[in-house]
Amino acid sequence: MDKTWLRKTIQNFQPYEVAPITVPIVINANESYQSLWDVPEVKTDLVEELTKTATNTYPLPYADELRAQIAEYVNKKPENILVGNGGDEIISLLTQAFVEADDKIVVHGPTFDMYEVGASSMGATTITVEDDENLQHDVKKFIEVIQKEQPKIVYLCNPNNPTGQLWTLDEIKEIILAAPKVVVVDEAYMEFNNNKQSILPDLENYPNVVVLRTLSKAFSLAGARLGYLVGSKEAISMVSRVKAPYNLNVFSQAVGRVALRHQDVMKTLVQTIQKNREVLYEALSNLDCEDLNVFKSVTNFLFVKTTQVPKLLKQFQEAGILIKSYRPGSALENYLRITVTTEAVNEKIIQVFTDTFAK
Ligand SMILES: *Cc1c(COP(=O)(O)O)cnc(C)c1O
Repeated sequence: MDKTWLRKTIQNFQPYEVAPITVPIVINANESYQSLWDVPEVKTDLVEELTKTATNTYPLPYADELRAQIAEYVNKKPENILVGNGGDEIISLLTQAFVEADDKIVVHGPTFDMYEVGASSMGATTITVEDDENLQHDVKKFIEVIQKEQPKIVYLCNPNNPTGQLWTLDEIKEIILAAPKVVVVDEAYMEFNNNKQSILPDLENYPNVVVLRTLSKAFSLAGARLGYLVGSKEAISMVSRVKAPYNLNVFSQAVGRVALRHQDVMKTLVQTIQKNREVLYEALSNLDCEDLNVFKSVTNFLFVKTTQVPKLLKQFQEAGILIKSYRPGSALENYLRITVTTEAVNEKIIQVFTDTFAK
């Protein structure tokens, strides 16, 4: 195979890399520590549902029943929902539906990599408006850049991965009014903020806005690959044009249906994670170390800044814990992202920080 056979736009493009897992405690990808099937009544329900699931015929193209359950969950109509093979597929569909080679997209940074990965695969340009050193976004500057660049898509990750910071609804509305075309609000972590500052209830007023959500995080279903888009009927049908007819396999659809019947389990888990997040935040903030900046978060992870990243990574490795770090030399080399899970893991994390900064 000859590299020049590749489309020009992907010949020099950086694919998204997934870190290899070599340790027992994996808290680098914001996954849930609990499987829904650990809960006996959920497991019974799942086994029944899977037993009824036929695989000799194709799945329903729009996952009708799951779509109706999601619509109810977000208080919309089924026609306002498109279910995808993870939020990642939804980002690909948005990219294929809207972004051409000469287009621009605007994001703030640092944020979720997949927006840029999608745009650059099309040969489009990503313009990033950097947050300040306290990870605060500059709304005025963001709007100026939108007005100047006239992007096809503006992505707002709310709350933001990896910083854990929130955009307020007022800020979002101001940005929406300034954007000439599509605005995607990515609310992958919104349940961890109890849906406060979600744009969903106001969506009817903003026909150019679509909201990306996922069952990977609050619903603990990263392995099932279930994401969804919420928008006007027109927006959903535009994005659906590029969808493969059977994008969601029957098992994913079944798992999603079961999970949405047990929202109480999700809510309890979210509350536990919120509690453990605050405990971890307090403990790390109280370490009395000038070289450690812990950012308040409304998600299921904490973002920290320190010049001691190499030393910490070594200690984490020794403790059998994988956290998210960034390439040396990159803009985020002095940051780490830590997924919040159990009290026991919290204690190990606190120990690692205490040991590293004591030496
Ligand atoms: C996890 C995540 C998603 C969606 O992930 P999927 O597992 O593909 O559904 C989308 N956006 C952000 C910011 C995320 O962190």
